Amino acid sequence: MKIFDLLRAYHESRENIRLLLDLSDMGDYEKMGFIDAWQEEMADFFARHDYCFACNRRLGRCQCEEPIRTSARTIA
Ligand SMILES: [Zn+2]
Repeated sequence: MKIFDLLRAYHESRENIRLLLDLSDMGDYEKMGFIDAWQEEMADFFARHDYCFACNRRLGRCQCEEPIRTSARTIA
């Protein structure tokens, strides 16, 4: 997968999450937890395809001070 495909999947997923949250009767706190969990999942999804979720670079070229996911953790 290329970064373009990952980003498209991300945007589609975000739309779905937004709809879901709009329809749900979760409280704000619950919603934030839900979004956090979803972002974790997206970060894992990007890392599985060797991209950094934060900067959209290949993990090997990521220069984020605190990479959201490292390749080591992806493999584990
Ligand atoms: Zn990065």
